Amino acid sequence: MPYYGCHLSISKGFEAMGKDALFIGADTFAFFPRNPRGGQMRPLDGLDIQRLTGLLQDHEFGPLVAHAPYIYNMATGDPEASAVVRQRMKEDLERLDHLPYVYYNIHPGAHVGQGQDQGAANVAGVIQEVLSEGFRTPILLETMAGKGTELGGQFENLDAILSKLGYHSQVGVCLDTCHVSDAGYDVAQDLDGVLDQLDQVVGLDRLWAVHVNDSKNPVGSHKDRHELLGDGTLGLDFFRSLVQNPRLQDLPMILETPNKKLEGYKREIAMLRAFEQGATVQEAQARLEDEPAQ
Ligand code: FE
Ligand code: FE
Ligand code: ZN
Repeated sequence: MPYYGCHLSISKGFEAMGKDALFIGADTFAFFPRNPRGGQMRPLDGLDIQRLTGLLQDHEFGPLVAHAPYIYNMATGDPEASAVVRQRMKEDLERLDHLPYVYYNIHPGAHVGQGQDQGAANVAGVIQEVLSEGFRTPILLETMAGKGTELGGQFENLDAILSKLGYHSQVGVCLDTCHVSDAGYDVAQDLDGVLDQLDQVVGLDRLWAVHVNDSKNPVGSHKDRHELLGDGTLGLDFFRSLVQNPRLQDLPMILETPNKKLEGYKREIAMLRAFEQGATVQEAQARLEDEPAQ
């Protein structure tokens, strides 16, 4: 069975995120180890982490998925900017190593005119150096929509980075359903065909997490605008097939949909769990309508 969760705010600490996760019926979650736009991290609270660790064990959570700030550009060709990114990543990973079981998800970055090959080489160089410090938290490269000079829009591009890293055992991939569709992979019509492609190019054994988002835009639009499940171009039948897919079991599935409140995620998680248990789209929707309004 997949694990389900969404992005939670770290502003009240680690244990508070665990409690929020329980409130929405989640058994994984994502968070920014620091402000998504960068900025300083608060000092580490060991007791808070201990309490979260106990909660995760008691409730049989799956792996958590931390998200690196969006502004990190591992593909940059500017040595000073690259040094800052490396330093920040090391600080993030040092912190994440205190958590029991967490991935560090990061956008590969944008090559801003250097070309895909040079961009991939820069990304691999950054990851290589960061990993040489001996952190144990695995790194996930996210599939991207291919907006502008963004890397990671094609599976071949992610594989180029992995290949330059000698297929390091600590580096995997996170599949974002909105991003892959926007990048031109028609998951809504042919999920298994796209998974076959990912398997041939990268290897499904490298797929360690999924971002579950509907898309505001049609396949191949290169836009990256997330939508609530069922309100976008992917549709509920797609999300039903996603959570039922035998090749995607045991993975953390993280919602990054534009809900304004936790209750919205609670409903989406309940719906995904109903799909997993075989409910049709109509049955899952009816079940949600029976639930008391929050
Ligand atoms: Fe992301
Ligand atoms: Fe994502
Ligand atoms: Zn996105």
